[in-house]
Amino acid sequence: MRSTNVIVIGAGVVGVCCALWLQKNGHKVILIDRGDPGAGTSSGNACTIADYACIPINNPKLIRQLPSLLFAGQSPLSLDPLYVISHLGWVIRFLRNCSRSRVAHIIESLGTLLQHTAAGLDPLVQETNSTQLFNDQGCLYVYQTKKAHEAAYPYNLTRLDHGVQFDWLQSGGIKDLEPGLNLNFYSGMLFREARQVINPQILVTRFFDYFVANGGEFIRSSVKGLDASGQAAILQNGDSVAADKVIVAAGAFSKQIENTGTAHLPLDTERGYHVQFEGKQTLLQRPVGWSEAGLYATPTNEGLRLAGTVEIAGLEKPANQRNLDYLTQKANEMFNLEETPQQTWLGYRPTLPDALPVIGQSVQSPHIFYAFGHQHIGLTLAGITGKLVSELVTGQAPSVDISPFSPKRFN
Ligand SMILES: Cc1cc2nc3c(=O)[nH]c(=O)nc-3n(C[C@H](O)[C@H](O)[C@H](O)COP(=O)(O)OP(=O)(O)OC[C@H]3O[C@@H](n4cnc5c(N)ncnc54)[C@H](O)[C@@H]3O)c2cc1C
Repeated sequence: MRSTNVIVIGAGVVGVCCALWLQKNGHKVILIDRGDPGAGTSSGNACTIADYACIPINNPKLIRQLPSLLFAGQSPLSLDPLYVISHLGWVIRFLRNCSRSRVAHIIESLGTLLQHTAAGLDPLVQETNSTQLFNDQGCLYVYQTKKAHEAAYPYNLTRLDHGVQFDWLQSGGIKDLEPGLNLNFYSGMLFREARQVINPQILVTRFFDYFVANGGEFIRSSVKGLDASGQAAILQNGDSVAADKVIVAAGAFSKQIENTGTAHLPLDTERGYHVQFEGKQTLLQRPVGWSEAGLYATPTNEGLRLAGTVEIAGLEKPANQRNLDYLTQKANEMFNLEETPQQTWLGYRPTLPDALPVIGQSVQSPHIFYAFGHQHIGLTLAGITGKLVSELVTGQAPSVDISPFSPKRFN
């Protein structure tokens, strides 16, 4: 049996950042994934390092808005009724986390964690010489109507409590910044300190290559589960890999890995999509999040990407063409782009009903640690999650209060 100090299961952006931070802290690490590093949900997202994104989609007004969101001809939210009925427990828990007090708790917890985004990400970016993979021109958030602007206004002010810097913009200011936009927006917010990655998969691959170049090992295999001791991963072919500690970082699939103590955790997925138009990235200088449409338009190194929508339909169903058509239609409205996208994509945001990730030691075994559930902001939070996991494994006090992210909150 092969053995190591630490096993990380899952080589998405979260698992790779965990592996790199553990390696930086002197651990011998084996990373295991059934596919290429960073090729899953971590590849097709909207590319924003959204350290301003402490406002969850849980919202006290959501219950009232649900009928119009679900039955509108065009909507960023869709549900598979059969899936929802069979996962009603998750939906009820999600709605319970839409109360004013719960949303305040989520904003406080995410806001605090997001303030450490750079502390987790920048050392990895510098060490791997990846600064050229970032665009530092900020991120823009836009509202098409006065009503949407006013509804979001009190929540937007809470960002200030977490050190987020932004400038309010009016229609003309938005056009000055982004002349390629074809729509007139009522208002906008420029998060001037925010950045984007020009291609998340290239960034994860860069981190991964550095990990391997510095002695990290990679095994390409599905992990069926852990053995009874919680200290050996059982691979698809029946082989085992032993370790002192195991990190479960398999995103939305983390519960499928047997005997990890995750069975009681209400992890589900918010499916999201992108469409990409090759060569059209010059239409934008920076990512633009269109609030009412539930999407970002982002310039990547390959094209203009429209990424977003939330679909509650689980991990098994094939991609829903309606969501792709919706994004294509929005590209037409936003940029007068009438062509068919050259690339389409479906990804699986790993989401707990309280919109907070699970970062911490398993209740089942002191050898198992969790790093999943980063919903809409996993690219942003991967670095700090990796740093926190390495601190926990090394026996240091975590540099951020991780009690809101404890797996025990669901006991
Ligand atoms: C449309 C969309 C837009 C988004 N935009 C942004 C954004 O702008 N900014 C941001 O911060 N976040 C964004 N996100 C969220 C972000 O992409 C995710 O939170 C993040 O990618 C999750 O990373 P992960 O490493 O946890 O999971 P994943 O990327 O899913 O990685 C999990 C890995 O585990 C592996 N795995 C699973 N099961 C097993 C097994 N049994 N054995 C071995 N390996 C296994 C998989 O192959 C995969 O490689 C967006 C998401 C979507 C869908």
